[in-house]
Amino acid sequence: MIVLGLFVVAIISGITISQSQARNKARAEVFQSLAGRWNGRVDPGGVSYNPRFEIRVDGLPGQITLHTGSKNQSAYTRVHFNWPSRIHLRVAPEGFSTWLRRAIGGGDIQIGEADFDQTFWIETSDPEWAREVLTPVLRRGLLKLRESGGWLSQSNVTLDVGRSGLILGVSRVLVDHRSSLEPFIELAVAALKACRGGGPAVGVVLAAVETKGGSECPVCGHAVDQGITCSTCGTPHHGDCWKYLGGCAIFGCQGRVKSRAG
Ligand SMILES: [Zn+2]
Ligand SMILES: [Zn+2]
Repeated sequence: MIVLGLFVVAIISGITISQSQARNKARAEVFQSLAGRWNGRVDPGGVSYNPRFEIRVDGLPGQITLHTGSKNQSAYTRVHFNWPSRIHLRVAPEGFSTWLRRAIGGGDIQIGEADFDQTFWIETSDPEWAREVLTPVLRRGLLKLRESGGWLSQSNVTLDVGRSGLILGVSRVLVDHRSSLEPFIELAVAALKACRGGGPAVGVVLAAVETKGGSECPVCGHAVDQGITCSTCGTPHHGDCWKYLGGCAIFGCQGRVKSRAG
């Protein structure tokens, strides 16, 4: 009886593994179909990790990662560009989290477009810069992405610019079809270009950010007294900031497991 039980378990886990391998393969193919457009390189994934897509835009490395969701973490797709900025900008759906209010220290700024202002909470360390960066094209793209989940399940769309780079995230897996992945990456690229072109106020000093060290949260740039530490790279984050991004904010780090920091 035990032998039979083990046999059944072996078959079921065998089926699960081959299903996830087939899914990884299909997703890697979607990535591959876009590789030519952004100097892409596909990491096909493995039994225990999802495929990953690395791209280059204007010489800057970016990566597309996904999480299919688990008990503690909702699904997401993320585009992350390694473009650290001293200016912080965070765009998240209104009512998404009230803690946003204290994360950067400013209030919700208004852009002057009713639809966008009602839908998104905009928090920044430089309102003038943010208004310049959030171009009509970018605003339309973010609104469209927000609505793309349908009225019953609107997607959590977040745009984050700061020490950890530029991150566009959506609370869905968008990599199963080229037709949904391509506009998502296009939107992230548009955001990157808008931020890079956003006037002389942009104080990006990559080396200075990298050598900064210390115990500053890479998401909001504030000191971390009590928080969580990425078990992969050891970087401390605020609990809220970690939750907001759904994992480690360090470029290239796939860490999602946390340990308590002192
Ligand atoms: Zn933080
Ligand atoms: Zn990490």
